[in-house]
Amino acid sequence: MIHDHIKVWNNVLEQVKGSLNVEDFMRWFIPLKPLRMEGSVLIVEAPNEFLVERLEENYIDILRKGIRSEIGEKGQLKYQYIKTNNVAKNSFQSPVRVSHPSRHTTSTPVSAYNPFVMPGLKKMDIDSNLNPNYTFENFIEGSCNRLARQAGIQIGKDPGKNFNPLILYGNVGLGKTHLIQAIGNSIAKNFPEKTVIYTSAEKFTHQFINSVKDNRTNEFSQFYNGLDALIIDDIQFLAGKSGTQEIFFHLFNHLHQKGKQIILTSDRAPHELKDIEDRLVNRFKWGLSTDLTAPDYETRMAIIIAKMEDRGIKIPEKIIDFICLNIKNNIRELEGIITSLIAQSTINQRKLDIELAQEVIKSYTSKANHELTPDEILEFVCTESHVSAALVKGKSRKGPVAQARHLSIYFIKKHLSHLTLKEIGEAFGGKDHSTILHSIKAVDIQMETDKIFRDKVEDFDKKLGKTLRIK
Ligand code: ADP
Ligand code: MG
Repeated sequence: MIHDHIKVWNNVLEQVKGSLNVEDFMRWFIPLKPLRMEGSVLIVEAPNEFLVERLEENYIDILRKGIRSEIGEKGQLKYQYIKTNNVAKNSFQSPVRVSHPSRHTTSTPVSAYNPFVMPGLKKMDIDSNLNPNYTFENFIEGSCNRLARQAGIQIGKDPGKNFNPLILYGNVGLGKTHLIQAIGNSIAKNFPEKTVIYTSAEKFTHQFINSVKDNRTNEFSQFYNGLDALIIDDIQFLAGKSGTQEIFFHLFNHLHQKGKQIILTSDRAPHELKDIEDRLVNRFKWGLSTDLTAPDYETRMAIIIAKMEDRGIKIPEKIIDFICLNIKNNIRELEGIITSLIAQSTINQRKLDIELAQEVIKSYTSKANHELTPDEILEFVCTESHVSAALVKGKSRKGPVAQARHLSIYFIKKHLSHLTLKEIGEAFGGKDHSTILHSIKAVDIQMETDKIFRDKVEDFDKKLGKTLRIK
């Protein structure tokens, strides 16, 4: 039977994970990288001999068990060290045993001459696109995100080394974007000389398409190849976009080989990604992929308290408890409720009591009853498109703003079909019905002719349905 080294190792890790606490697991196991199978021997790369010896001392039994259950009784593990350029060549009798292995020096790949980096040239001034408000400090840790947050903190201190790539996946509103931007901010702060870029897979795709159109793909590649850390949000958007996948594949290899950090998010686990080439998905498994799950009660509580404190507001514990019990699956929703509560109590001078909390929650959960509002759809589209709602309601005709406007209007018409064009116009700062009609038509026409756009709209719509619980 032929074993796939990555699969074998991932399955071993799955087993091991259950018997350890998160910190130990990350410290001792995550730095190991599966390289290949040689018969029933799995070769993994370890950063140093120290780590292997500690593993030996403490975890030999669980590791042996994992290896045997995956490969069979003959299953063995061999290590290859990264930095010493030595390969441990001993065949071990037990799955893990390191006793002064004989070493064979391997040739080190000499870092290739890079024609784009001129010696002495200062770092280009590039906008990282990072939102400075997303930090580790204001990202509350709970069991739902501990591994991801801790791995992120490590990356911030030592990018490109341990978890490369890092992939965070999970449903909307659980903190993926916040966390990857926090990592980016931390890298930028700790290593001011490094160039960090945050972008969405969608933006990346459009940039690439435009570069093809303008005959500037070289510049496009040159730019991305020169980064020290590349952070791409919502990678599922690359589904079916084979040209962009191709260029991303090469970019990934290039950066990874140079030890540059890659951080990605996705709405689902890498192996569940559809219409993404196997060779890419396989690379996604090289590092650490971990999911963000819905926060438990204590974490929800801590998040609410932190957000309140942030705004200098205190609310009775009874109310916090009430919100926690009612909102379970989406931190963005928790935030929205807090914002509404604060607005109601400060602007409308309402008393912050259970009754008000009930009302605010009801207006949120009414989505389940199809009492969706145009503003909620608008908010969703704006957040997803990374543009401000105020701009979308205004007159700007800038590409992304106009597109978010068209899409919001299109979805409002679709999901709130009882609204008249005039009523929709009112939700957009008093636009007339012909403007609204124009937006709807613009989306319809583009969907007919542009497959990427159609996929995007369908993707959006699915996510919108999930987030706003449209039945
Ligand atoms: P996703 O990208 O998974 O859809 P976001 O990163 O956009 O989620 O998070 C939604 C909102 O919830 C953001 O405003 C973010 O700051 C907040 N949030 C998510 N997780 C946490 C957390 N653990 N602590 C504090 N705020 C959080
Ligand atoms: Mg996000």
